[in-house]
Amino acid sequence: MLDEQSDIVAGSKIASSLQKEIEEVLQLAHRFKEEVVLPNFSQYDLHVFKDLDWLPEEFLKRAAAFGLFTLWLPKIFGGKGYSPQTMALFNEEIASVCLGMANIIAVHYLGITIVSVTSNFKLLNTICQEVVRAEKLGGFPCLVSVAATEPDAGTDVEELELIDRGTLICKAIKKEGGYLLSGTKSFISNGHFSTWHIVTAYADLKRPSQTPVLLAVKKGTMGFSLGKIERKMGQKVCPTGELIFDNCFVKDEHLCLDLSALKMAKGAREVNAILLNDILSLSRVGVGAFGAGMARGAYQCALDYAKKEYLGKERAIDVEWVQSILASMLQNFLGAKSAYFQAMRLNAKVGPFASMQNPIVYRLLKWLPSSLQQRVLLPILSTSSVMARALSDRIKKADPFYCHQTSLWASHAKTLGADLAVKNCQLAIELMGKIGLRHDAKIEKLLRDAKLLQIYEGPNQINRLNLFYSSMKMAGEKVKEYDS
Ligand SMILES: Cc1cc2nc3c(=O)[nH]c(=O)nc-3n(C[C@H](O)[C@H](O)[C@H](O)COP(=O)(O)OP(=O)(O)OC[C@H]3O[C@@H](n4cnc5c(N)ncnc54)[C@H](O)[C@@H]3O)c2cc1C
Repeated sequence: MLDEQSDIVAGSKIASSLQKEIEEVLQLAHRFKEEVVLPNFSQYDLHVFKDLDWLPEEFLKRAAAFGLFTLWLPKIFGGKGYSPQTMALFNEEIASVCLGMANIIAVHYLGITIVSVTSNFKLLNTICQEVVRAEKLGGFPCLVSVAATEPDAGTDVEELELIDRGTLICKAIKKEGGYLLSGTKSFISNGHFSTWHIVTAYADLKRPSQTPVLLAVKKGTMGFSLGKIERKMGQKVCPTGELIFDNCFVKDEHLCLDLSALKMAKGAREVNAILLNDILSLSRVGVGAFGAGMARGAYQCALDYAKKEYLGKERAIDVEWVQSILASMLQNFLGAKSAYFQAMRLNAKVGPFASMQNPIVYRLLKWLPSSLQQRVLLPILSTSSVMARALSDRIKKADPFYCHQTSLWASHAKTLGADLAVKNCQLAIELMGKIGLRHDAKIEKLLRDAKLLQIYEGPNQINRLNLFYSSMKMAGEKVKEYDS
């Protein structure tokens, strides 16, 4: 199975090196699950019912002690340099028990991914060095959140075709030495305990698709405050809340990308489309991995029940109709897993990870000592000209067919994973009857968590439309999109 996983994830050129990484990451995931996730997930969930503003500080410290917030940071920025693809396998494992805990870790890396997709290696280094330093000191970790959703614009900010129709309020106005940021972001995971927030604002609210401004806002910046924490049904250990910006001055060093200020052959909207596609192709695969993990977790609950309980004189697992339900649940898990693996393979082969699969680049970044990378490579990578070149190369090389293909598969993995996670939770509860409704049976929590998966990274309805539109574009067929 491991051979197969590394082959699928990476393609054959670096499969053997990746196999060792996969083994290590899975071992770590199992250890973390045994020592931190399983002993605590249920009590944390119940705790939030009682104390709505509770933050998972103990969990964050334990995760940091396991090195989880630097494991997937490149060595050149002080991290441990594990391949990002292996994170999906880790996510699957942790989500099989607690999606909220898995999401805390994944959101942190989504923030890092967004900065790296913009090729702003200087800012990326600033943020990563703080994450690494905090981990070395022990105690409370330095984390990153991603703030795109606004009070009246959720789906719209995830889809370029809808963004100009959305009711957006977050504005970034260029001033001497920085940007003045105003507006509110809502439903932001990790927002209430992160040090850095990757915030999307717009230079012109009438043309948001062409004028996005990505800013890294640091905790404590004047004009930035935290609002309410949402009382949501699931993933309770991972709080989502409001970030409020009131004439918050963000200095130029913390600008990630201002698209309207970029000079490129392709227009700002086209560049935005490519970058958004890269980010969503990666993040939606992560949600697909969550879904596969949850589908597996629900199957495991049902299997444990069927092994232990009797229907009349027979063990439930020996009864044919129970076996049929278990078979369907296992198929659901395998379907979700295959979908996210295929999406991940495409990201590595023709999508945003393709350049990292070059065996020379892979080995250089993997085996060259961190100190050497930081002393020799980092100063070169952080110059304005190299960063601008890296971004323009990515834009130039983005093949529309492959962009649509990675987008299609990412949406497929996301929707299928989320739907099959919910489906398996429902099947498990039906099978288990009243036992399944009890909190200690674990499945009611899984169901509450899984439902949220259908909503974030673009609701499933929008992802299904994106999947269809992408397939039409790949076939060269023009269709009207989103009732435009
Ligand atoms: C647990 C959780 C964590 C989150 N974390 C973050 C985070 O860290 N950062 C962040 O920025 N955001 C985050 N979000 C927000 C999330 O991205 C949004 O909830 C999501 O994009 C949907 O937006 P909405 O809730 O405003 O739904 P709406 O946009 O109001 O949509 C409601 C419904 O209408 C449907 N719909 C909307 N428009 C269309 C259309 N044009 N055609 C067809 N159907 C349509 C949708 O499919 C959906 O079912 C999180 C959300 C949740 C639930």
